[in-house]
Amino acid sequence: MEYVILDIETTGLDPEYSAIIEVGAVLVSKNKIQAEYSSFVRYEDEVPYNIKKLTGITTEMVKDAPPLSEVLKELGAFIGKRPVVSHNGFSFDFKMLARNGFPIEEKYDSMELAFFVLPTNPTGHSTKALSGYFELGDVPHRALEDCRLEFDIIKRLLKEYASRPKDQLSALKWTAERGGWWWAEMLPGKPESQGPISGLVQAHVPYRKRDATQTQMLLETKKIDTERVRALFSPTPEYLEERPEQRDMALTIADSLNNHTHCVIEAGTGVGKSKAYLVPSVLFALENQIPVIVSTFTKALQDQLFFKEIPHLCKITNKDLRVAVLKGKHNYVCLQKFDELAEETLQTLPTRSLYEFGHDEVKFTPRLAVVLLSSWILTTGRGDWDELPYWLVDRIHKNIEGDVCNSDELCTSGICDLFDAQKCFFAKAKLRAGDADLVIANHAVVLSGIIPTDGTEATTDDSDEAEQNGVQPNRTHAVFPNEARFLILDEAHHLEQAATSAWSEIVSAPGLQRLLQQMYGKKGVDKRLQTIAKNKANERLVGLATNFAGLEQDTKLAINNLFDDIIPAIMPPRGTSGWSEYLAFSTIEMTPDHAKVLKDSLSNIASRLRSMASILKAFADDEENPVLKKVLTIRARRALITADSIDIITDDGPAYVRYIERRGGIIEIKADLLSVAETLKEEVYDNFESVILTSATITIGQTFNFFDDRCGTNLVEAAKIKHRLLPSSFDYEKQVQFLVPEGIAYGSGEAVRLHYELSKNLIEEGVIAAGGGALILCSSHPQVESFYNDLVRPFAKSGLYLLRQIRGRSVGSVVREFAEDVHSVLVGTRSLWQGVDVPGPSLRALFIIKLPYDPPGNPVNEARKETYGGGWRGFSEYSEPLAVLALKQGFGRLIRKATDKGVVVMTDDRILRKRAFTTSFPKGVVVKRADKATILAALSALRPSGE
Ligand code: SF4
Repeated sequence: MEYVILDIETTGLDPEYSAIIEVGAVLVSKNKIQAEYSSFVRYEDEVPYNIKKLTGITTEMVKDAPPLSEVLKELGAFIGKRPVVSHNGFSFDFKMLARNGFPIEEKYDSMELAFFVLPTNPTGHSTKALSGYFELGDVPHRALEDCRLEFDIIKRLLKEYASRPKDQLSALKWTAERGGWWWAEMLPGKPESQGPISGLVQAHVPYRKRDATQTQMLLETKKIDTERVRALFSPTPEYLEERPEQRDMALTIADSLNNHTHCVIEAGTGVGKSKAYLVPSVLFALENQIPVIVSTFTKALQDQLFFKEIPHLCKITNKDLRVAVLKGKHNYVCLQKFDELAEETLQTLPTRSLYEFGHDEVKFTPRLAVVLLSSWILTTGRGDWDELPYWLVDRIHKNIEGDVCNSDELCTSGICDLFDAQKCFFAKAKLRAGDADLVIANHAVVLSGIIPTDGTEATTDDSDEAEQNGVQPNRTHAVFPNEARFLILDEAHHLEQAATSAWSEIVSAPGLQRLLQQMYGKKGVDKRLQTIAKNKANERLVGLATNFAGLEQDTKLAINNLFDDIIPAIMPPRGTSGWSEYLAFSTIEMTPDHAKVLKDSLSNIASRLRSMASILKAFADDEENPVLKKVLTIRARRALITADSIDIITDDGPAYVRYIERRGGIIEIKADLLSVAETLKEEVYDNFESVILTSATITIGQTFNFFDDRCGTNLVEAAKIKHRLLPSSFDYEKQVQFLVPEGIAYGSGEAVRLHYELSKNLIEEGVIAAGGGALILCSSHPQVESFYNDLVRPFAKSGLYLLRQIRGRSVGSVVREFAEDVHSVLVGTRSLWQGVDVPGPSLRALFIIKLPYDPPGNPVNEARKETYGGGWRGFSEYSEPLAVLALKQGFGRLIRKATDKGVVVMTDDRILRKRAFTTSFPKGVVVKRADKATILAALSALRPSGE
């Protein structure tokens, strides 16, 4: 096999504005480098400082070199008709060459091979990461040397890959050849189909055998030794810094776990709260052989705890910990769906390219996605979609994620073979969660998993088991075993929001259509009912099956009528802001006709769903086949749950706020709890032995009143709960400057555009002055896209790499990428305001575009404001405290350790007039107005030393 490896050096990262200054290539044949080509390219300007520093190429080296046209001609002759390989070539080298009139016909990117061989490499797939992995030394950043290094990496990758089990090599080679992947020829192994890829996936390996006595509710637990906890927070030879607040926090938590009490702790940034709660949790879990659940609001923090904190924890406690991460089921790849997609896409030999080359990007076809994901599926232990690297997810079509991720509730034993075989990733995640010392979950999983003890809403084996074990706490959990009654809720400032969403009743057209699909679609139950009735020759069942079939059309019509006619007639026309649009039922009720039509239509659908459920239940009661009985029962339950949600939505009781929301073209009809305080008390504080609620931003004006009121901790008996406020240990006066630029005023209407333009211009100059290392916090996804589109080019021209948060995708991998490079810049919204922990110079400048008030119009917020008296009082007692907490969170991203220094630039001057905000920051933070020159000087001073 003969091919050319190519690399270029340039004056920047933007293919449009940067110049090529060096070209290198090697010709590989018979697995050896047979020839080499290298040349500088003439460049008459000054080589930028950062490029000179990175590559060692100086202006003198290139000013008299041959012109690009001559070099490209020679390069063309060197390549001939051979295929060309470049690492990250699709993102850069090939693009850059094409813009300079040198399109390459047959081109391949070795990032794909790197991912195929090392899909879960924690440091990624860049040349630097791979060179580090194979211990090949620093990347030279010189074109020819980089080509040689690249060839070494390819050889090492293939050698490493060859050590995989034989059946994997055969299956993957078969898949790669079938998929038409160019790299297939180089892969070792004999191509042979081994059946579906799921067949080769490892089954769950239990950590410890569940002992029957362990499932009893352990009211008696052994106490952990607080002296041991204290010792683990004493200075060590490697870590001399004394952190009294962190030790205090750990001891407080140890005390709560030991005595089965609750605790609310605000721990300022720098206290090191993750370690402070993880250490006592792990000691307590190991001492008692029961799991402690750590729950975060964001998936980003879940990943951060798992990848960053847990390895450190194992080291300091000297324990081999069993830690499980558990996310919602849609995060996991469904092996059954993946097998189906693979079969569908690999059925025929490829006739088309595996790549779709657009103007500025390359997309991977489903066929290529199947080839690459097959290797990942056989390597990943978790099957968590968030584990995939940013560059790959960005190239795979969004619908592939929906095609292969878990969405069906029929994921249970006796129905899916992969579940029974304990191969299914979601099933394994749940088994691990029931088997671990520490479970890192999120608030959505924890709160929505709480179910009544009779298990009526359970859909998993775990809940079935909980039902049968004779334990009778008030509530059980769909996922965790009963002894998991010790809970740490981090990011507790989001608890009200998380509980509101977890316990929200929602009806939407896609949700109802999915339900009908499960009843009447390709894999629906209606045909089965007819077959059962016929086979049993049972007239009653024949009649019921006919009735069931008859419900399809009527229900479809009712759903279409509701979402296509009634709601559009009631709701105002769709706006263009990108915000959610709402219509509260309380507003509709001002027009009684509309309210009646809407409620009648919903009730009509609910009554049909109840009819379906009762027919399914009749069949289930009559059914002897246990699998079929289970399928019918689960479908009936699904229909009933939806009908119950509709009942709550159409009811008039004061506990809920009912409204219609239109978001991104999807309409949802919802009922949210007006207050979650009572429910949190009943479902969480009364049911868990010990709940620790912590965050860096809980208090307003040094008091817990707002949090207690919103989250129901004031309803817990005083002896069972305590509060602690632990200040930050940072010296903010020395470490941070908080600047509000002169001449940029936040405004509404026409002024919004001007505010955006002025902010963008300042950010462009400011980020370039700081040399990158900046986080830009926006208030919406459309704003993120605008900043990204406007700034990506100018930043690239200055050698800065702009990353962005992508709507609907976890931010874990993009934050990891941002943290790795001190010259990168990240722009994002909501999820980046909290839970992002990037200490050191990678994050040294923080731009905040506006005060983080929730957008107006949300009926739940409006109704909650009314409970404070509405108007200005509602605003100042509900909306403002929420915005203060959000801003404190955003600010907290910047200074993460005692040696960090940074600048905050806030382009919303309203902050200067609002004491609630300026007085809420930690001691030493002074919010000041500053002119542009001062801001740019402050940012320039942040440039990494030597630049
Ligand atoms: S149990 Fe559900 S998610 Fe798991 S493989 Fe089966 S169908 Fe897919």
